[in-house]
Amino acid sequence: MSRYKINKPQGIKLLPKVKLLSTMSFNSKLYEGKAKILYSTDEPEVLLTNFKDDATAFNAQKRGSIQGKGVINCGISSKLFQYLEKHGIKTHFLDTPAENQMRVRAVKILPIEVVVRNIAAGSLCKQTGLELGEVLQKPLVEFYFKNDQLGDPLLTRDRLFLLKLATQEQVEEITHLALQIDKLLQEFFFGCGITLVDFKLEFGVDSLGQILLADEISPDTCRLWDTSNQQNPNLRVLDKDRFRKDLGNVEAAYQEVLQRVVKALES
Ligand code: C5P
Repeated sequence: MSRYKINKPQGIKLLPKVKLLSTMSFNSKLYEGKAKILYSTDEPEVLLTNFKDDATAFNAQKRGSIQGKGVINCGISSKLFQYLEKHGIKTHFLDTPAENQMRVRAVKILPIEVVVRNIAAGSLCKQTGLELGEVLQKPLVEFYFKNDQLGDPLLTRDRLFLLKLATQEQVEEITHLALQIDKLLQEFFFGCGITLVDFKLEFGVDSLGQILLADEISPDTCRLWDTSNQQNPNLRVLDKDRFRKDLGNVEAAYQEVLQRVVKALES
C-alpha cells in the first residue's frame, strides 16, 4: 500500500503533485474556506494555501465562480505581502510554489476580521446612513466577529474582550498594524491609479507569540476603485462588488488589478 493510502484521512482530497513540494510525503486538508483550502506540509511550521476560483457573497447566500480568480488573488496577495514585508510588516507569506498556491507560516488565526475604511461604502453606509463615496476624515478601524453562523457581527471592544477573542495588548498592536498597513497600501494603490476604499485583514499568532498578518489581500477582500473613473459608480469598481452587484466583467477587473500591481512593482 502506498504512503498516501495509509495516511489519507477519510473524505480528504489530496493535492495534485506540486513541483517544488516534491519532497513532501503527503498533504492533509486542514480547513476549507469559501475562497481557499489550507493543507499541512511535512514542515510543522509551514502550511500550504490553495486559492480557489469559487466566489461567495452575503455570508455565502450568493455563490458562483470567477474564472482564474485563484491564480489572480494568489498573485496579488503574494505581491502585496512582499511589499508590506519590505516595509516592515510581518506577514505569514513564504513563497508561491505554484500560481494558485502560497506557502505560509503556520499561525493560529484570531477570530476577528479587522476592517479598515477610508471612504464610506458597503455595510458602513447601510448601518450609518453615510453616503457612498464620502471620504472619512481619518481611517476607521472596525472589528467583526469571524463567525459565519452569527453572520460576522460588528464587535464593540467590550464584546471583543467579553468573548476573549484577543487580549487588550493584541487589540492595540493589531489596530496599530492595521493603520500602518492602510497607509502603505493606500500609497501603493495610488501608484497603480487605484483608490483604496476599504479592506479586511486577518491576523494570526505564531509559535513565538508574534502577531503576523495572515489570510489574503485581494479584490475579494478590498474595495478598489479605478481612480480615473472615480465618479462613475459602475465603471470604477475593480473588486468583488462587481460580483456582489452583478456588474459584469468580474474576471477582467481582477486581472486589471493584478496587472497594475505587477507593473507598479516593476517600475
Ligand atoms: O461589507 P463591508 O462594507 O463591511 O466590507 C468592508 C470590507 O471588508 C470590504 O472590502 C469587503 O470586501 C471586506 N470583507 C471581507 N470579508 C468579509 C467581510 C468584509 O473581505 N467577511
